[in-house]
Amino acid sequence: MRSMVDHMTPDEFRRNGYAVIDWLASYRETIEDHPVFSIVRPGDIAALLPDQAPEDPEPFSALLADLDRVVLPGVTHWQSPHWYAWFPANTSPPSILAELAAAGLGLQGMLWSTSPAVTEIEGRVLDWLVDLMDLPQGWKSTGPGGGVIQMSASDATHTALVVARQRRPTDVNPRDMVVYASNQAHSSIQKGCTIAGIGHCRIIDVDDVFAMDVEHLSRAIEEDLGVGLIPIAVVSAIGTTATTAVDPVADVGAIARRHDLWHHVDAAYAGAAMICEEFRVHQRGLETVDSYTFNPHKWLMVNFDCNVLWVADRRPLIDTMSILPPYLRDAASDTGEVIDYRDWHVPLGRRFRALKLWWVIRSYGAEGLRSFVREHVRLAGVLADRVQADPRFSLFAPHPFGLVCFSHVDGDAATLGVVEALNRSGQVAVVSSAIGGTTFIRVSIGQTYTDEAHVEALWALLDECSPQPAGDSTVV
Ligand code: PLP
Repeated sequence: MRSMVDHMTPDEFRRNGYAVIDWLASYRETIEDHPVFSIVRPGDIAALLPDQAPEDPEPFSALLADLDRVVLPGVTHWQSPHWYAWFPANTSPPSILAELAAAGLGLQGMLWSTSPAVTEIEGRVLDWLVDLMDLPQGWKSTGPGGGVIQMSASDATHTALVVARQRRPTDVNPRDMVVYASNQAHSSIQKGCTIAGIGHCRIIDVDDVFAMDVEHLSRAIEEDLGVGLIPIAVVSAIGTTATTAVDPVADVGAIARRHDLWHHVDAAYAGAAMICEEFRVHQRGLETVDSYTFNPHKWLMVNFDCNVLWVADRRPLIDTMSILPPYLRDAASDTGEVIDYRDWHVPLGRRFRALKLWWVIRSYGAEGLRSFVREHVRLAGVLADRVQADPRFSLFAPHPFGLVCFSHVDGDAATLGVVEALNRSGQVAVVSSAIGGTTFIRVSIGQTYTDEAHVEALWALLDECSPQPAGDSTVV
């Protein structure tokens, strides 16, 4: 008997599945043939699609063919080894296969009992990371704190700010509450305040290396207290988006303790580097921190989405997020012996994202992951040295991780000209940013497959695209 819907048979599913993997393997082999930024115009891709959904089933071969015909022209190749824009959003073979396996299993991990493996693997793998990144032991699932996988660092930060708000007595008006972050903090902090209904997001000055000025932080808190506002939280960045600047976490933490502020750390990008001992100097003071977030989906070869939020004390998080309607009552939950991750974030449903983190860590081993990060940081150092030695450029900021920021000495127009020429070549992708009226080029080295030869090619292209300083009569 045929079912109402004409499903693929298991054999067809196998065949089509192999075809998809073949397609992906070929994509990886030929990725460098494509211009890194997609060059289509707005509407070009939509124009390739029919106006209406098909009435009749189409064969899988037609779907697969449209990856080439419709999708690829509109793809910006984040997985190209010539990707230097924003930060990386890496994939890797074990992560892709884990994503496929998780989709095939189709699990929902909202309660422990809705798939115990989803919860217990997530808890254990995040405990591994506590050790690998040398985070406080109390953040393990066996301690008072714990970790949870969320969709994005923005979600994790919004969640932390809501918890900070809920810790205050109910008669305190959120419109009077204040959250502090530096003028280099990611936009998700301001957005989180808006979503949480927190009235004030106070922007704190930075010093000459773009790290939070803690004296200004102290002054701002006192000023706000003086006018009757209620400081509730401060966010430190380990690796800001523009330049990877690092706030003084321990000093910020001391101020947070003094004023009973929730101290959240945003290490979305740079957290991955903490698997290597030599970078942990940038996260001294974590014992004063209430929550910490980082994105394995940036630089740790786990494909989007996979963010981790740790809290030092899980109680206020669960008190904030837990609502128990009758249909979610559950015998295992009632024992108090299991984690129900639905109480650790906004969504109820949750997929098996821990599988890809687990498979990536096992496939490369901690040592493999460390050498991956170290090599990118080394290559960033090589590029920075060349930039520094070249009279056309000036380094704009320190480069503690894999990001190098620099400008053309002739100013903003010349710098933007270089960025435009690099991207127009189709051979690489970079972006610019600006701080205090100075525009700079950001070269973020960290794509899974970027190696020394790619950085050499980037330097050759940069050399070609960058004019000599105006007034320099040197003949080259
Ligand atoms: N925080 C920092 C420092 C970032 O650099 C970014 C993104 O690049 C984010 C937060 C936001 O990350 P997500 O896209 O996971 O929300």
